[in-house]
Amino acid sequence: MKALEITKPGAARLVDRPEPTPAPGELLLRIHTVGYCGTDLSTYRGRNPLVAYPRIPGHEVAAVVEGLGEGVSDWTVGEQLLVFPYTECGVCSSCLAGRPNCCKNNQTLGVQRDGVLAEFATIPAGKAMRAAGLGPRELALVEPLTVGAHAVARGQVTAGETVAVFGCGAIGLGAIAAASYLGARVVAIDVDDAKLDLAAACGAAERLHSIRDDLGARLNELTEGHGPAVVIEAVGLPATFRAAVDLVAFAGRVVYIGYAKEPVAYETKWFVMKELDIRGSRNALARDFEQVIAMLAAGRVPTERIVTQDVSLADAPTALANWDRAPGDVTKIHVQLRK
Ligand SMILES: [Zn+2]
Ligand SMILES: [Zn+2]
Repeated sequence: MKALEITKPGAARLVDRPEPTPAPGELLLRIHTVGYCGTDLSTYRGRNPLVAYPRIPGHEVAAVVEGLGEGVSDWTVGEQLLVFPYTECGVCSSCLAGRPNCCKNNQTLGVQRDGVLAEFATIPAGKAMRAAGLGPRELALVEPLTVGAHAVARGQVTAGETVAVFGCGAIGLGAIAAASYLGARVVAIDVDDAKLDLAAACGAAERLHSIRDDLGARLNELTEGHGPAVVIEAVGLPATFRAAVDLVAFAGRVVYIGYAKEPVAYETKWFVMKELDIRGSRNALARDFEQVIAMLAAGRVPTERIVTQDVSLADAPTALANWDRAPGDVTKIHVQLRK
């Protein structure tokens, strides 16, 4: 079978690999659609310290059951599914606290182990999820949207609250769609007007341009001078990390999904004076997947606009290289493997 391999930083190519056979308890999958994740781009750029090369990337997947390993009885050949891409250790403090999404020893498909950007793949049957009524496009979008949905859960967002989201890439859009789905009023913030339009299509009631608009003044206007109850940061820059704390309401919540690549200097008095809840958000839980599946089934996400490019497996290495050169042009690339 053909697979996409990131051989070393900056080098992606198609390779021949033996078609896998499912071990007991596993499913053999015929891969239909795989979304490129920001993580896959980091791997290509050699910026993900968790990756050893060569690596087959890919964990945002729509697939069809092609075969069953011994002992698998709850799946049938031909069923469509998506894959829960995380494997937790079960014994670290996160796992023991019922929060396996932030497992200290987590392994994600395509990062610490080979992913599914290949014609076939095997996975433990317990990692397969059904999503009745969703097509391959939606199935492959579930996982990236769950990351934002988990941040909304971490922010304990409730209906009627104002939630500001920094960053309208694939992850930020998931947060916007999930918060709006819960009935919050979402203010989307970005430097790119096209991304702000997409944010509005995902449910953002207001959009602010981080350079043209005076964010503090506009957010105060929208909230009777209080500031947003929740700020979610999905950019990963020191300036937006700081702005989240500066702009959030007193007694508000700040949730960070982005990874700032450099240290961030804070006016820490705001942590205390505002008595902030500042929380990190990593990956997602099974219940976030269920929420996103419901949100997609309800037609709340403009999936055809979020996917900015469809490519074949043969063109997938070039698409990755182009994404590396012009990251701003891409919200989501889908690799279509079905012939
Ligand atoms: Zn992903
Ligand atoms: Zn663990």
